[in-house]
Amino acid sequence: MFNFFDSNREDVGLLLSSVKKFCDTHIEPNYDTWETDGIFPKSLWHKLGESGFLCIDIPEKYGGQGADPELAMSVPSAITYENYGSVSVGMSVHSDIVAHYILNLGTEEQKQTYLPKMASGDYIGAIAMTEPAAGSDLQGIKTHAKFDGSNWVINGSKTFITNGQHADLVIVAAKTNLEAKGSSGISLFLVEADNEGFSRGRNLEKLGLHSSDTSELFFNELKVPESALLGGEDKGFISLMEELPRERLALAVNAVAAIRGMLDITSNYAQEREAFGKPISQFQHLRFKFAEMETKYRLNSAFIKECLNLFQTNSLDTGTASMAKLASTEAQCEIADTCLQMFGGYGYMKEYPISRAFADARIQKIYGGTSEIMLELISRDSFSNKS
Ligand SMILES: Cc1cc2nc3c(=O)[nH]c(=O)nc-3n(C[C@H](O)[C@H](O)[C@H](O)COP(=O)(O)OP(=O)(O)OC[C@H]3O[C@@H](n4cnc5c(N)ncnc54)[C@H](O)[C@@H]3O)c2cc1C
Repeated sequence: MFNFFDSNREDVGLLLSSVKKFCDTHIEPNYDTWETDGIFPKSLWHKLGESGFLCIDIPEKYGGQGADPELAMSVPSAITYENYGSVSVGMSVHSDIVAHYILNLGTEEQKQTYLPKMASGDYIGAIAMTEPAAGSDLQGIKTHAKFDGSNWVINGSKTFITNGQHADLVIVAAKTNLEAKGSSGISLFLVEADNEGFSRGRNLEKLGLHSSDTSELFFNELKVPESALLGGEDKGFISLMEELPRERLALAVNAVAAIRGMLDITSNYAQEREAFGKPISQFQHLRFKFAEMETKYRLNSAFIKECLNLFQTNSLDTGTASMAKLASTEAQCEIADTCLQMFGGYGYMKEYPISRAFADARIQKIYGGTSEIMLELISRDSFSNKS
């Protein structure tokens, strides 16, 4: 049982052992089929909800368990450690991102309407910012919403949207003021997927995370009521910025959990696999590589725990959260490559878990803000006191 925060807390221990049991019972027997199908079934969301694994740190009055972020982030990290990245990524988007946008920005009515359904797994959440021509540069989005006197009418399209095929509720970023310069003039909307004018495109085929559904979404004269506005008109970009530290912390926690998982499976393999009459773990080159990787794991793990403490006291700033995302995901990809190498040809075979961990790792440096954007954000703080 993997315990990212090395917590001695009884509640964390109990939760993590039930997550492990859940993985062994409901995920492990089916995961290969889901990966081939390119999506895991909606019924898994219901099971996750019934088991109390969704929206754990949402207050009880909105259907959550009122837990702290440490407990909440322990769940997807334990699933990532078991190498079921597609499930944990979808859960993080749902519980760590969408639910917290609603909790922090929503009206009382929005919270009461959506959060209990998200905690039970009846409603699946997605967030749609990226468009075919605008990813890193969100100021360039073309999707727009116009108020017609009684409804907001949304037109446009999105791409690469996690949970897009299964989503019942999508937070959509749209321009509401076409004259506004730069990042102002963007608003967020809570869009229910059964609205007329909402349609889903392809479930996109990817390099890794095969059973995480990733979609195109289209909005054609999509009408939503005035009450669907989330966080104020033209305030969307500010809201996105406010929510980014949590999003990046969640990604970093999963990156470090993935590193631990890869190190454990590779260590076992290296002690069993023999070459030149001895286990490959006895070759100095390989031992030193392991020493380096374990050191990176410890460094990242310590830093992410520090970030969690900052987050729990409301003091995790954008630059620090970006460092966490940058360092941990770069380390994840580097370690994935080194571990795969230690498996030799077997590492390239789909049936060996390290090949999946390797393929799943690659996107971590891209979504949630690319490594280059993280560098940009971190470097701003380096020169903030100078002209
Ligand atoms: C599997 C997957 C799941 C995703 N899930 C979601 C989701 O749920 N919701 C959502 O809204 N989006 C999602 N995305 C989109 C993701 O966040 C974007 O792909 C990402 O932000 C990069 O945007 P882009 O693809 O348009 O690349 P671009 O912005 O076109 O970037 C191309 C390259 O240029 C570099 N670059 C861009 N600007 C700069 C700069 N100023 N300085 C230096 N380099 C720069 C980038 O780092 C990158 O290397 C997902 C993507 C994938 C692949």
